[in-house]
Amino acid sequence: MTTTNDPSLNFSTDWKYAPAPESSDHVQLKSRYDLFIDGEFTAPAQGAYFDTCNPATETNLAEVGDGSEDDVNRAVQSARKAYDRVWSRLSGRERGKYLFRIARMIQERARELAVIESMDGGKPIRESRTVDIPLAAAHFFYYAGWADKLQYAFPGREVRPLGVAGQIIPWNFPLLMAAWKIAPALATGNTVVLKPAETTPLTALKLAEIVQEADLPPGVVNIVTGAGATGAALVANPSCSKIAFTGSTEIGKRIQKSLAGTGRTYTLELGGKAANIIFEDAALDQAVEGVVNGIFFNQGHVCCAGSRLLVQESVASIVIRKLKHRLETLVVGDPLDKNTDIGAINSRAQLDKIESYIDRGRKDGLNLFQSECPVPQKGYWCRPTLFIDVAQSHPLVQEEIFGPVLTIQTFRTVEEAVEKANNTPYGLSGGVWTDKGSKIFKVTSRLRAGVVWANTYNKFDPSSPFGGYKESGVGREGGLHGLAPYVSLT
Ligand code: ADP
Repeated sequence: MTTTNDPSLNFSTDWKYAPAPESSDHVQLKSRYDLFIDGEFTAPAQGAYFDTCNPATETNLAEVGDGSEDDVNRAVQSARKAYDRVWSRLSGRERGKYLFRIARMIQERARELAVIESMDGGKPIRESRTVDIPLAAAHFFYYAGWADKLQYAFPGREVRPLGVAGQIIPWNFPLLMAAWKIAPALATGNTVVLKPAETTPLTALKLAEIVQEADLPPGVVNIVTGAGATGAALVANPSCSKIAFTGSTEIGKRIQKSLAGTGRTYTLELGGKAANIIFEDAALDQAVEGVVNGIFFNQGHVCCAGSRLLVQESVASIVIRKLKHRLETLVVGDPLDKNTDIGAINSRAQLDKIESYIDRGRKDGLNLFQSECPVPQKGYWCRPTLFIDVAQSHPLVQEEIFGPVLTIQTFRTVEEAVEKANNTPYGLSGGVWTDKGSKIFKVTSRLRAGVVWANTYNKFDPSSPFGGYKESGVGREGGLHGLAPYVSLT
């Protein structure tokens, strides 16, 4: 029991939940997955496969095909054929029916998909079953609704699809990212070749099974697994009329360079370094919970994570105290346990990267706080970490860490808060916590960020556009805005 002057902090952090593991008995995984091309699972041309492992146990779940340039080209050819012969000729209403069918099938298999997402990616089951999978289905439902109403989305314009979309996604929201990419592309009459991230290919391959069962015409959706070289081959293929990429700013810049001057269009959803700004008039407990939700749940593996806290000086000490207290109650461990707040870090490489930032902070003598929760022996784990009073120019404040690490800075005026919030190379998202509506409008209109939440954080809906300023990317996904990058308008 901790005793302080603040009655809201007088609770014990010295207790444990009984384990509440989600069963994985119903999950059916094959030992080997081939590439999904032209409606069939086919072996990679060079016969190469790689393992995908469970980051919580370091055990292999399955091996998946390593798509070569030949495989990518075959997939793009099949998508082109399906586009020319079938999909671009189908009415919007018919396309919509297929999308509704996929959405329903995702819902029917939600439990299985959620468990696989947690096993392959390390994220807590609480998140995969309440966020990832329902939102993936919701995106298919939403864009299914648009398929036969494109004339209302773009009134007075003639709307045409672009052709084949090459789509490359990261490992933090595997199925949801696949849905973000595939649903608007198909709704507008394009066909796709999707390249999932190498550490989390399994739910995309399950989606391939759903696509097959939904009887989608062969070649409309192709899924080619592999690593960076497979993605690069997709970007290089001139028959892809459009590239949609979500991932690191470094690779995004490389893709942008290679597409410059080709006339092929692209959307890039890249890194972020969002600030959560707490004003002294905010409901502080609610704000602390929002900050915790914004950076620590899902291990900070969120490009719009609120990885910086800006707190008004007058309430800084109480907010930091509350945060430390809350951190001590967070459960780090088995992603399949329903009590887990922070699951496994997605890969060894990502854990090394996060730890190198924490070491950097330590070496630079920063004020560090880490919770003392136990972590399992095997697997990749990182305790929730705070760095208090960090200079604006420090790499921990400027660079994307993509882990459960929060930097804390203080400010005195609205101007200073806005200045600090905007002062990074990124501009994807942000959060504002205050009791005053006028302050919300004042601050949000001056933040150079694509999405700003007020008195909440990390809330998503298929009807809301998402995307960034500056090095956070180009273009928008989601909502009506998410249709535009997949059509040509005359
Ligand atoms: P992260 O740091 O989130 O892993 P990456 O940008 O490395 O971000 O990866 C995001 C996606 O981009 C993954 O599917 C990855 O395989 C793919 N990728 C990596 N390198 C390239 C590349 N040179 N061209 C195209 N795609 C790539």
